Amino acid sequence: MAFILSLDEGTTSARAALYDSEGRNIGMESAPVTCFYPQPGWVEQDANQVWQAQIESARRLMERHRAGASDIAALGITNQRETTVVWDRRTGEPVAPAIVWQCRRTADFCAELARSAAGAEITRKTGLVIDAYFSASKIRWILDHVPGAMARARDGELLFGNIDTWLIWKLTDGALHITDPSNASRTMLMDLESGWDDDLLRIFDIPRAMLPRIVSSSGVAGSSAAQHLGGEIPIAGIAGDQQAALAGQACFRPGLSKNTYGTGCFALLHTGSHRPVSRNRLLATRAAETDRAPQFAIEGSVFIAGAAVQWLRDQVGLIRSAAESEDIAASVPSTGGVYFVPAFVGLGAPHWDPTARGILTGIERSTGRAHIVRAALESIAYQTRELVECMEADAGEPLRELRVDGGAAVNNFLMQFQADILGRPIVRPVDVETTALGAAYLAGLATGFWKNVEELESFWRAERRFEPEMSDRVREDLYNGWHSAVARCRAGSAPSA
Ligand code: ADP
Repeated sequence: MAFILSLDEGTTSARAALYDSEGRNIGMESAPVTCFYPQPGWVEQDANQVWQAQIESARRLMERHRAGASDIAALGITNQRETTVVWDRRTGEPVAPAIVWQCRRTADFCAELARSAAGAEITRKTGLVIDAYFSASKIRWILDHVPGAMARARDGELLFGNIDTWLIWKLTDGALHITDPSNASRTMLMDLESGWDDDLLRIFDIPRAMLPRIVSSSGVAGSSAAQHLGGEIPIAGIAGDQQAALAGQACFRPGLSKNTYGTGCFALLHTGSHRPVSRNRLLATRAAETDRAPQFAIEGSVFIAGAAVQWLRDQVGLIRSAAESEDIAASVPSTGGVYFVPAFVGLGAPHWDPTARGILTGIERSTGRAHIVRAALESIAYQTRELVECMEADAGEPLRELRVDGGAAVNNFLMQFQADILGRPIVRPVDVETTALGAAYLAGLATGFWKNVEELESFWRAERRFEPEMSDRVREDLYNGWHSAVARCRAGSAPSA
């Protein structure tokens, strides 16, 4: 059979892509997904719209390339992680809006939990920093706020899923309620090594009956129901978007790392079969497994990266398109001392401050649009340096280079500034859609479409390498300025947990 189909459900859009036997992207279609912001710090989506966007993009893609279900060896699914859907097992209807990973509504609950006796146990078992980011407190919120939900969940009437689980449940007409370790490890209900954990379920008071079965990231779990994609297609790969991107970058071995520049920024370092413990406020997480053996990674998550560019476009109207930010930023030699800390939903790693909010500092009479646009792009690079520094400290050695991908990685100004501010080379592959590619890899490996990871490694090609060109003094001066701006942004917030 000719293709692997990848379904890549991101925060801002649902995409579908086809790959041939050489791992080449044959085509991609996408449909937008709407985020709702009903209160400051709250972010929601309509799970039914997410499903519609995903299935429409897949159908459109297959039509455009005249690919029928019989041309597709298997499909892989990758998804925005942590986003929480709870639905009625019988009707399939969500009982509440999906609570998106960025949503801060459970920040107070999490702050209290972190201070409690259970706090240390949660972190030790899950490898996570206690934060509203992860699914458990979001499930708790739904059970607390939807009338009757707790009793129905106990009776097995309600199901929980992240977006992977939800899409698979829809694709199989309710036959499969499953997830994989890379997604499960982001719920805060999983012991990083062994699986769903009764102590964690007790702490969050979440009935086990709601939880999906954890299956391998790479393995045939079942097939899509014929009605959705014109025939049954084996579902053979599942991974959270960042772990899928790690696979798509062919980072299958310890010591290899990537950074994805999407809505947020996510740097992951593969640690192989070794369970990492971060001493620098990064997360320990499960990588996608390519066989039955558990694989691990260290991760640094920044909540707002490309979303700062989106904000300049949609909320402020300073730019017409994300792409034009590159030329606008390059039209001035520096930000003229302006820093932009886009802490719209607090700060993620390594600060973990849910109460911080965004700040623009250093504005003068001469400050113009280009300086602010440039400061927004630079903020992405500064935040990444914070992650990489922690990662290097955890790993005990410097990164040799950083592989990059995601929507904003096409921005050459940003990539050069990233190499400069990091003092490390940045390497961009030919195919920056590594999330979709990674899910395809997992599905292809499971079905013999590809032989082994060595074959996948042979597909990886650099498109461009960005070498650091900035002097050490300028680099450190600029970075110190960033620290001052972050300190001000945090000083304006209530003390964090
Ligand atoms: P996600 O998977 O999180 O939805 P993507 O990887 O599709 O995100 O990246 C989209 C993000 O990248 C958006 O936030 C957008 O503002 C940003 N982006 C897209 N193109 C550019 C560009 N040329 N320069 C800077 N940012 C960009």
